[in-house]
Amino acid sequence: MHTLKLIPWGVRGSFPVAGADFLGYGGNTSCFSLQLGEELLVFDAGSGLAPLGDWLRRREGIKSVHILLSHAHLDHVLGLFPFLSALGPERQVHLYGGAALDSLKTLLSPPYWPLSLLDGVRLHRVRPGKSFRLAGNGGALLSAMEGSHPGGCLWYRLDLDGKSLVYLLDCEPDPARRPELLRFAQGADLIVWDANFPPRQEKPGWGHSSWVQGAALAREAGAKRVLMAHYARDLDDRALQELERDAARTGSACIFAKERTEIEL
Ligand SMILES: [Zn+2]
Ligand SMILES: [Zn+2]
Repeated sequence: MHTLKLIPWGVRGSFPVAGADFLGYGGNTSCFSLQLGEELLVFDAGSGLAPLGDWLRRREGIKSVHILLSHAHLDHVLGLFPFLSALGPERQVHLYGGAALDSLKTLLSPPYWPLSLLDGVRLHRVRPGKSFRLAGNGGALLSAMEGSHPGGCLWYRLDLDGKSLVYLLDCEPDPARRPELLRFAQGADLIVWDANFPPRQEKPGWGHSSWVQGAALAREAGAKRVLMAHYARDLDDRALQELERDAARTGSACIFAKERTEIEL
C-alpha cells in the first residue's frame, strides 16, 4: 500500500519563466512526480525535470525512473537534456509515449545536443485504449487516451490501491470527444488540468483551456479534485492568486499547482 503524493516540478505552459514575480507558483514547464516504492513515475519532462534530477541524485532508494510523455512539444521534453546528461548509471530510465518517442531520437542527439542522450534509456510505445503496466512494477495500472491538442497528444490514467489520477496535459476540450473523456476521467481522485488561459480568454484552436473548463469536467466526471497547471507565461503570482480566489469563491474543488508542494491522492 503506497501513500500516493504527486509533486509538481513544473507548472508553466509553453515556456519557462524566471524572476521575482513568479516565485510563488514557480517558473518551470510541465513535470510531475509520483513515488511508487523504489520507482519514480514522472508525467512529462519539461524544464521541471532538471530540479527533479537534482533532488533524485540526493535521494536513496529509487532504482528506476519511468517518464510518461504526453507529446513532444518542447515545453514537455526540455528537461530531458539536463536530466539525462547528469544521470548516473545506477538508475534505469524508461520513457513511455506515442509518436513523441520517434521525435526524441532526432532531438536528443547531434546537432541539437553534443551527445546522443538515449543510449541506455529504454523506450516503451504506448497504445491509446490499451492498458499497460510499468516495466518491473506490477502494481500500478496505466491507460492512455488520444488527447485533443494540435499535433496529437496522449493523456494518462493511473489506478493503484483504489486511488486514481488522470493527467490531461495538454488539452483543449473537444465536444465530439467529451463522452470518451468523461469515461476516461470517471471518478478520479485527482485530475491534472491545462489551465493555460484565464477564463473567457481561451483561444480556440491553440490546444489549451482555462480552470473553469477543468472544474466543469471534474464535476461532470465525478472527480474529487482538479489540479490546475500549464499556466501561460504572462500569468504572474498576482494574476494566479486572483484566479485561485475566483475558483475558491465558486466552491469548486480546484487546486492551483505550485512547484515542489505535495498533493496527496
Ligand atoms: Zn504544453
Ligand atoms: Zn503542447
